[in-house]
Amino acid sequence: MVNRVIGRFAPSPTGPLHFGSLLAAISSYASAKHQGGLWRLRIDTIDPPREQAGAADSFISTLEAHGLHWDGDIVWQHQRIARYREVLAELIAKNLVYACDCSRSARAEAGVLDCLGPCRHGEHHPNASDAAWRLRSPATASTYHDRLHGELSELLSRSCGDAILWRRDDLPAYQLATVVDDHDMSISEVVRGTDLLDNTARQCHLADSLGWARPQFLHIPMLINSTGQKLSKQSHALALNNNHAAENVFLALQLLAQQPPAELRQAFIDEIITWAVAHWCESALPIGDIKQP
Ligand SMILES: [Zn+2]
Repeated sequence: MVNRVIGRFAPSPTGPLHFGSLLAAISSYASAKHQGGLWRLRIDTIDPPREQAGAADSFISTLEAHGLHWDGDIVWQHQRIARYREVLAELIAKNLVYACDCSRSARAEAGVLDCLGPCRHGEHHPNASDAAWRLRSPATASTYHDRLHGELSELLSRSCGDAILWRRDDLPAYQLATVVDDHDMSISEVVRGTDLLDNTARQCHLADSLGWARPQFLHIPMLINSTGQKLSKQSHALALNNNHAAENVFLALQLLAQQPPAELRQAFIDEIITWAVAHWCESALPIGDIKQP
């Protein structure tokens, strides 16, 4: 069991799943299952102010309707805050993070991405109850491998600065929760949309800092609408219609260049998913954005 592939789908309940989410869900599911692996579901409930009532429940019914059945229990991030605090404490003990209370306005005025300097250099020790915790970024470029995009490299100090791992409002940041959960859930591959690509170098740096193995990464293209806008909850993409689940999955497979046979169009949802798993072809995946038909 040690080397078993474990994939995951980890939506944030900021809105219902849309067609772009379906592409990521099917890709991560089919990839893991094609390799005889497991597919876990995690619901990223660490940002209560941004959550939409009922969204998490709708994820469950939408995934079930679309034949995407997860393995094991659902992991809810809001139940894991103590674990995130434990990892933060480890990072503090190793001096890999520092408390920073530089205000947004002062940073904007100075044109800096992260800390104005004194907190990072230990010349100012903010009250931790009113400060964010930032991860020191490396001096050299961070490189990682993406199974679709190849070798990628990012100089974190220039692209995003020292990432916040714990927010000033005392909530764990997305980056910390993601890396801790992927590690604790033994996730071996992260298949998700390219909208999350720019998190990857930060997440690899954090995993490296903790001495944890990185998962493999595969970022699938984004779906764009007729005006070239990416489909997202922010662009008010339409919620998936569970009454058209089989059609949705068939179309998703076509858009992912998996070439489902025409007769599958009339099949039941479970047959379509079984076909997708059996015939999953990673090398056929498109690299550029996918136009919504
Ligand atoms: Zn600072």
